[in-house]
Amino acid sequence: MLIRQDDNSEDREESIEDLTSKVFKLIVEQGKEGILQSRLWKELNLTSRDGSRIAMRLEKRGLVTRQRVLENGRWTFRLIALRLPLDTTSIEGAPCITCNLESMCTEDGSVSPNTCRLIENWVLVEMSKRMDAKKDITNTTTATTTNIQIESMQE
Ligand code: SF4
Repeated sequence: MLIRQDDNSEDREESIEDLTSKVFKLIVEQGKEGILQSRLWKELNLTSRDGSRIAMRLEKRGLVTRQRVLENGRWTFRLIALRLPLDTTSIEGAPCITCNLESMCTEDGSVSPNTCRLIENWVLVEMSKRMDAKKDITNTTTATTTNIQIESMQE
């Protein structure tokens, strides 16, 4: 567990997996420009120690690169995603971001997305969420259309 800088209460504790996901999502959202790590720590209210630990973890997994840059006379790092997904919502909660086996995972290896239960479960849950969201939209549209039809019949 990591604790945010400004609050020691238990409900503010977040698992390293959740924070790693959030950090990666924010980096991805900055596109090819990336983001200065100090800004990232500020946005997520992380200590530089915890933030650096997460950044190094993402770098080790080949998900981000840390470029050393001079900013306002001080050396710091700019974090840039090495893989940019089309849609950032698609990476939220993805098990690969925090997976210890990520460096060994290849398409045809013994650790592979083709046989991984974690990725399979995540894809199924994400698909079911999207299908539920689509159903909600369809139901709302149908209800609105019906209401419009009833209203126009009453006029
Ligand atoms: S596919 Fe599975 S084993 Fe491979 S990196 Fe993702 S979670 Fe880990």
